[in-house]
Amino acid sequence: MRLGTLLLLTFYGFTAGAQQAAVMDVLNATAWVQTSVEYRASALQAYRSAGQSLPKALKDRNWTAALEQTGKFRKLPPAIIVDVDETVLDNTPGQARFLLEGNGRYDRNIWMSWTEEKRAKAVPGAVKFLSDAAARGVTVFYVTNRVPQEAAATEANLKAEGFPWKGAAAGGLGDVLLLAGEKPEWTSDKSARRAAVAAHYRVIFLCGDDLNDFFSACLKPAERTAKAAEHETWWGERWIILPNPMYGSWEDALFDYDRKLSGAVVQEKKLKALRRE
Ligand SMILES: [Mg+2]
Repeated sequence: MRLGTLLLLTFYGFTAGAQQAAVMDVLNATAWVQTSVEYRASALQAYRSAGQSLPKALKDRNWTAALEQTGKFRKLPPAIIVDVDETVLDNTPGQARFLLEGNGRYDRNIWMSWTEEKRAKAVPGAVKFLSDAAARGVTVFYVTNRVPQEAAATEANLKAEGFPWKGAAAGGLGDVLLLAGEKPEWTSDKSARRAAVAAHYRVIFLCGDDLNDFFSACLKPAERTAKAAEHETWWGERWIILPNPMYGSWEDALFDYDRKLSGAVVQEKKLKALRRE
């Protein structure tokens, strides 16, 4: 049965099981990101905050946003590291296809065909902030867990949406699109790629929708909270985060990063994670 039909039946009074409830989580989250003014305002607010910090970030040579930034970096040229998906490109149509054409969960074939179309729109506020920064001499790096197979389409999509693009980056980095698996040490953990940029640039902002866009965060929920608290004053100032209730390590952390679990078990673990006081 196609998911659309299943959802309709549910709406007509059938009791939704736990599997469907898991799907409804994604439906609600996707509807919020794709349709609400509240989401749009959150994104604009995030990038506006970043823009307000930009002059200070450029002027203060001791300013860095990367925990991987070590050694002498005062004289290095400035750079910004942004994630791609749900940070600068909006993939809610892909998310909608998971719901309408698949079983609601991530589906690699649906995803690859979506990114290949190069039709993702820019996240509100992102183009203006990054273009303003680029106009002031900042190099923008796109550090994404998209894979090399998606490189050409991703570059074309970013350029079509008006994002700044510097053809050649310093220090043997190649271009400004740093994909997962492009080099053996470039795993899905982005630390090595942040370190590679930080070796040649002063990283003045990190922008992302997932804690892993800021530091290695595949940790238990309490550990994530504790580690983030060490740099709490950085949010909205040099760490710019976009809301993503649809997917991410926040959710995976609730079920120990075991993506093979059934929807029913995931629901159970989420319910157990809720506090009543
Ligand atoms: Mg992302």
